[in-house]
Amino acid sequence: MSESFKEYQSLLTERAIIIVIAITLIFLWSVNQISFIAVAVTTSIAAGLLVQLEIKRRMETLRSKRVAETEKRKKAKQGAQSLRANALNGVPSAILLIDSNHKIIFANKTAKELLGDGIVDNDAFLYLRQSNFVTALDKVLTGGKKANDLIRYTTSQDRSFDVTVAAVTSTEPGKEKQRQAMVFFYEVTSLLRTEQMRVDFVANASHELRTPLTSITGFIETLLGPAAEDKTAQDRFLGIMQREADRMIRLIDDLLSLSKIEMSRHVSPDSDVDLSNILQTTATTLSRKAAKRNIEFNLDISENLQNVRADADQITQVLMNLVGNAAKYADQDTRVHISAFPTPNNRHMQVTIRDEGPGISPEHLGRLTERFYRVDTARSRKMGGTGLGLAIVKHILLRHSSQLDIKSKMGEGTSFSFKLPIAK
Ligand code: ADP
Repeated sequence: MSESFKEYQSLLTERAIIIVIAITLIFLWSVNQISFIAVAVTTSIAAGLLVQLEIKRRMETLRSKRVAETEKRKKAKQGAQSLRANALNGVPSAILLIDSNHKIIFANKTAKELLGDGIVDNDAFLYLRQSNFVTALDKVLTGGKKANDLIRYTTSQDRSFDVTVAAVTSTEPGKEKQRQAMVFFYEVTSLLRTEQMRVDFVANASHELRTPLTSITGFIETLLGPAAEDKTAQDRFLGIMQREADRMIRLIDDLLSLSKIEMSRHVSPDSDVDLSNILQTTATTLSRKAAKRNIEFNLDISENLQNVRADADQITQVLMNLVGNAAKYADQDTRVHISAFPTPNNRHMQVTIRDEGPGISPEHLGRLTERFYRVDTARSRKMGGTGLGLAIVKHILLRHSSQLDIKSKMGEGTSFSFKLPIAK
């Protein structure tokens, strides 16, 4: 039953009572049982009571309407607040709201993952202990709009964040305005890592180029000075200088091809490539070099080998580097096994280059594809290595949505394998 119907009903009942009383009084007056004055007074009192009742009811209706309105507004506000909390929980950066007593009054999902589940209602300085946090929070909570500087925050897991602390004012109706601080964490871990890699790369490349250059300039000085008249020394030194110059050329070629590969990184290769042909050409090209150390290539190519979707030049470079390495680092008088087979689901061709060399100990395996990483730098240099071969392989395979799988057993040898998608 609706509110207004109930109201109408009670109004009718009250009026009926008054009318019944009035009729009864008039009847009593008509049969001379009561005086006219008594009738008038009683009827007035009843009417007064009725008016009073009506006023009371109206007041009651107004009050309940006001309560309903407040309730509605409260619900809408709670809805908006939970919507805001939900939105902040969806933000992938950690966000904290801290009140004027340094208490954390809100932490979004990412903040809880970063600083711990139970951080809300705790003192912010339990988690943000650095002195610059204390200064920034105090500054913001006592009047400043924003602490100017970014604060670098590093976790024990080596994650780094640039943190800003900004002032917000709480505007809850009926409550005094309060100063609060919003702390926003922007993760810079990968940015810092990339920056560090760039710095390391420039330093390594400069060092790699500087070593042969220093050697060449040293020999030039010797040739101009003490060895100016010594024909035998001159021949020997010129030979060394040529080797060093060749090393620099190889290094620059590798650096250039690495940057070229990185530039084409997001362009997927789209030609059909005859893998068998590339494998055989690579083996033929390198067999003379391998024969000098009495290393023999053993080719095992499946009859079901199909064309792959790839960049022929880049896959040739991958194979030249891997088979070349096997020929360089495997023991003399051994064999290098080069195989290519379709994978069981017949969607890829798997290529494997396995040598019977000394093997690589496990601690090096994860770092072999880093630029300039070598297990034995002196040996690599002696064999004409630049330390960039496997980095080039890794980046070419990345462009082919593939990866290099390295397995090694000390004393038994190493195998490098990768998969390429069969051309449709
Ligand atoms: P490098 O120019 O020095 O050969 P790479 O990037 O091609 O550079 O290889 C990195 C290092 O990995 C090499 O210096 C070598 O120590 C090791 N390595 C690569 N291939 C083999 C292999 N088949 N057997 C043993 N060690 C290898």
